Amino acid sequence: QVVNYAPFTLLPSAVPSALFEQAYAVQQDFNLLVDAISQNKEFLEHTLASTIKVDDFTARLFRIHKQVLEEGLAQSVFLGINRSDYMFDCGVDGTPALKQIEINTIAASFGGLTSRTVAVHGRVLKVLGKSEEASRLLPNNPSKGLALGIAKAWELYGSQSAVVMFLVEEVQRNIFDQRCVENELWNRNIRVIRKRFRDVFEKGSLDDAKRLYMDGQEVAVVYYREGYVPDNYNQQNWEARLLLERSRAVKCPDIATQLAGTKKVQQELSRPGMLERLLPGCTEAVTRIRATFAGLYSLDMGEEGDKIAAKAIADPDRFVLKPQREGGGNNLYGEELRQVLEKIRDSPARTSYILMDKIKPQPTKNYLLRAHSPLQVSECISELGIFGVYVRQGKEMVMNTTAGHLLRTKAIEHADGGVAAGVAVLDTPYLV
Ligand code: ADP
Ligand code: MG
Repeated sequence: QVVNYAPFTLLPSAVPSALFEQAYAVQQDFNLLVDAISQNKEFLEHTLASTIKVDDFTARLFRIHKQVLEEGLAQSVFLGINRSDYMFDCGVDGTPALKQIEINTIAASFGGLTSRTVAVHGRVLKVLGKSEEASRLLPNNPSKGLALGIAKAWELYGSQSAVVMFLVEEVQRNIFDQRCVENELWNRNIRVIRKRFRDVFEKGSLDDAKRLYMDGQEVAVVYYREGYVPDNYNQQNWEARLLLERSRAVKCPDIATQLAGTKKVQQELSRPGMLERLLPGCTEAVTRIRATFAGLYSLDMGEEGDKIAAKAIADPDRFVLKPQREGGGNNLYGEELRQVLEKIRDSPARTSYILMDKIKPQPTKNYLLRAHSPLQVSECISELGIFGVYVRQGKEMVMNTTAGHLLRTKAIEHADGGVAAGVAVLDTPYLV
């Protein structure tokens, strides 16, 4: 009913080119890692065991995951679209280091809108008489890269008349971001439909071969832009999710890949030897991945968890306390972290969280432009996201690519929250 421009910074933000290149260089490794985890039933089961005892949402996802494995996977083509997010940690000597915040394996957004921000910032620089600087902004088109992955999965599914289904929220505030990707598919003569869980519940069905039909139309690919937070589900929506997961359609992501993106998995990956086990023989990839890890700590019951909980209570500003949630605004910091952790330190409730070292970037000044907000200069920090896209057919990786980047910037007053949460705004990196 109301259309606004997406919020953006007036000026591009400086990003160290070495760190930018490092983030690009490690993305295909992360694609391989996420895909390996999604196929490793034992790892997921073992890693999430303590979490699913106390976190109902993760437990429900896990139950569907187990059920489809027991029935036998009907799906043989797999499509992953993820976004690995980083901040630039300022060390004691002032040298910035690339540190991963998290990897988003479901509904990773803003690839569409950010494909337009280079043009916006290029124009702003020209207006300021800085055409030389404008020409140095890197081209960036994740829309196209994401669509190429979806198109590849659609092609391998192998039915000319089948459609791609975007699974979208009941009320969709970020529709234009999705339309950018959708348009790329129509340009390739691939039909796209947009449906909600409720539509799937009412009109979705499987045939004998577990082909998915919506209203009589066969669906080749289900691209989730929904389904990543508990609020997205009621009983009917859970049933719809199960139907989709049981189907032959390519899910982006399948439920195992969604679970691979949980914060608990991220924390377990940082244990010594874990990456080596998950990616055997990939020594260089393991080194590149590990270099981006910040300190991550398990709060599982036992001595290890007791010790780190005590440390965080004593020095809360060194840490971030994270539950198994997505979408921004869920993490705890500082005094609030201390209070919550103090309350649950001796109870299994603490295992629904992980602890992470707090990344401390160097703030810079910028203007954040947001509809109906006064323009003022803010002290800002930025988060760089890299889009990864891969397609696997059976055991064979047939596509493994890096599809572009996203820079989001926010005022330092906000510890947490992304663009959708109304905190961060779209930005463009200016490499220095
Ligand atoms: P979500 O799944 O909700 O997006 P994130 O792990 O991305 O969860 O955290 C949300 C936001 O909180 C990030 O965008 C970042 O601004 C901030 N944040 C998360 N982890 C850290 C950290 N270790 N240090 C500093 N800030 C963090
Ligand atoms: Mg995030």
